[in-house]
Amino acid sequence: MPRLRLQVRGVVQGVGFRPFVYRLAHRFSLTGWVRNRPEGVEIEIQGETGRISAFRAALENERPAAAHLISIETELLSDGQERSFSILDSALGSEVRPSVPPDLAVCLECEREIADPGDRRYRYPFTNCTHCGPRYSLIAGLPYDRSRTGMAGFPLCEKCRREYEDPLNRRFHAEPVACPECGPHLRLVIDGRVGSEGDTALREAAHLLDHGRILALQGLGGFQLLVDATSEAAVQRLRQRKHREEKPFAVMFRDLGEIRSVCEISPKEAELLTSPAAPILLLQRKAGELVPSVAPENPRLGVLLPYTPLHRLLLDQVQHPLVCTSGNISEEPMAITETEALEQLGSIADAFLVHDRPILRPVDDSVVRMDSDGPTLFRRARGYAPLAHPVKWEGPPILALGSHQKSTVTLVKEGEAVVSQHLGDLQSLAGVRLLERTVEDLLAFLGATPGLLACDAHPDYASTRLAERLAARFDLPLLRVQHHHAHVGAVMAEHGLEGPVLGLAWDGSGWGSDGTVWGGEALVVEGSQFQRLGHLRTFALPGGDRAVKDPRRCAAGLLWEVQGSLDGISDCLELQERYLVERALERGLQAPRTSSIGRLFDAVSALLGLRLEAGFEGQAAMALEFQAQESCDLGAYPFELKDGVADFSPMLEALLQDRRRGLPVGDMARRYHQGLAELVVAWARMAGHSQVVLCGGCFQNRLLTSLCRQRLETEGFQVVRATKFPSNDGGISLGQAWVALVSAKLKSLGNY
Ligand code: ZN
Ligand code: ZN
Ligand code: FE
Repeated sequence: MPRLRLQVRGVVQGVGFRPFVYRLAHRFSLTGWVRNRPEGVEIEIQGETGRISAFRAALENERPAAAHLISIETELLSDGQERSFSILDSALGSEVRPSVPPDLAVCLECEREIADPGDRRYRYPFTNCTHCGPRYSLIAGLPYDRSRTGMAGFPLCEKCRREYEDPLNRRFHAEPVACPECGPHLRLVIDGRVGSEGDTALREAAHLLDHGRILALQGLGGFQLLVDATSEAAVQRLRQRKHREEKPFAVMFRDLGEIRSVCEISPKEAELLTSPAAPILLLQRKAGELVPSVAPENPRLGVLLPYTPLHRLLLDQVQHPLVCTSGNISEEPMAITETEALEQLGSIADAFLVHDRPILRPVDDSVVRMDSDGPTLFRRARGYAPLAHPVKWEGPPILALGSHQKSTVTLVKEGEAVVSQHLGDLQSLAGVRLLERTVEDLLAFLGATPGLLACDAHPDYASTRLAERLAARFDLPLLRVQHHHAHVGAVMAEHGLEGPVLGLAWDGSGWGSDGTVWGGEALVVEGSQFQRLGHLRTFALPGGDRAVKDPRRCAAGLLWEVQGSLDGISDCLELQERYLVERALERGLQAPRTSSIGRLFDAVSALLGLRLEAGFEGQAAMALEFQAQESCDLGAYPFELKDGVADFSPMLEALLQDRRRGLPVGDMARRYHQGLAELVVAWARMAGHSQVVLCGGCFQNRLLTSLCRQRLETEGFQVVRATKFPSNDGGISLGQAWVALVSAKLKSLGNY
């Protein structure tokens, strides 16, 4: 009888792959064995040829939802001796390459159990199995084993142990397995005192939500704030207490049907929502279905489905959708312990639904949008981190410290890049501490000692300063990577490119090589080097950082640059303010110059009267995008390219003329977007490289990206963008690591 060896590579550990193989072998009456190996799973099977091919097909087609297969190598062998199929102990390699699975959304089978009054896990909020449950947020170290998880303090009861040890059971080696008898339990804390416990706590929490109260929930990767999404008063109260005036909230719905009644949803979007990653997905809203303050003036809504049994039970109990937002104050990291939560969220939440299963690291909800050319990640955390990305690298580990906002850390180690979960901003001390902890955590987790460090070129970023301290402490070389170079590098890392490419890196701001603030860059990137082919003409930002939250100041800077006066701004700047801004521009004091397209968006948004003030970064630009979406092709506003520098004055002139003529705002917004797409084409022609990378926060704008893609492809260029990592600063650490990797590779070849 034929015998086959299969070497399966990918994420196949901690996701129920071996029991799956075991069940398949039994189904097809095959003998042999399966075992974990450092690089994946190894299988030997023996039996009739037809059965072997059926097994081989089922291995791919029926694999557990959380398994990611990279390759299956097969080899024909001579006969074996076994009479049955078994799961062998893990093979110990000299060099173990650990793989950490991301947290997995609750599976259908577990959902069925908690809904079944006859099941011993009926209404048990910590139910999980090898297909689902906490992973990254619960694992302390590797190898992945219960004693090194947050479940170490919960010895298995007899019944759970039997399931855990039975290869035919769905809970075979499910490390976080638990039941009401041996697992964690809920508590409801009000005014610092425990009110009720277990299922009563859950029912009481639901009751509070029904009455418009704000609940802090100890979720999977951190605390969340929940409130009734159908009560305007309740949502308003959350906004007031959280000091979050306008930034949209995500909403958790019971099922796809409920989402369909509020949003447009495609089959692909439905698939992503119900996948083990279960992110917050941005969908197009239908008119007038939710209370206005959930996502004010926003045609899109972030939706998600219950991704743990705890969320499932709560949503079933309350019978209405819930606003679901990270449990943090302003830009600080999420609370993960009860103490942190009581301290930080005490003035926001009316009650705390907590439990005794520890959260070992904060893992926020991921935020994704499905576009026609693939997903766009806004925040990469739960369900995605720390999935490794394959890269060709055999040298010493590389550690990259990332940016200042939407911070992440990347570690490159033998053939893979691991990008940490989204850590948030580094403005606060707590944010910086989280960055330090994540660096230590990632190094310990993957057993790596870095040989090379990379960071941003900005001298004042907290991430740069940490990189400098690490470089001094471990006596390591430190590569400072220009911000926009790193943006392009992130996309090159995702697609394995070494250039030459033209990279259009457009964002809010980044430290430029000449000491000015960059943000509208056309860079030719090749190997580890870049050349600044061009950029947006610079203009002054009166008040510097204040302009970020005040699009009127951006507009003032733009007008001043073109006409030397603030004529045309009258309706958006108050008199006294206008006087101060004018003085700043005249003297050039406290008015740094920038080539930022993010700020150009802000300026245009203010000039069109869309956003005079921004409640959060990107709001003005988003308003412009939403307006432009409603309009059709009316011809592009002209930008003039002189020696690579894009002059906005013809664009501004045409726009002001349209404004005087009373053209609808949407039409002007549309013409502006089209103008930028033409500008991209002009730069692409000038560079003459076939691959064009679109990156930086501005390209999260769906209309801008699709207009650029259409125009570039018509002209014969190939468009490359980020689909697995964020295009915003969340991708910077990956880009830095890529530049460092390519530079180290070239150095060792003697070409550097
Ligand atoms: Zn499950
Ligand atoms: Zn148990
Ligand atoms: Fe950036």
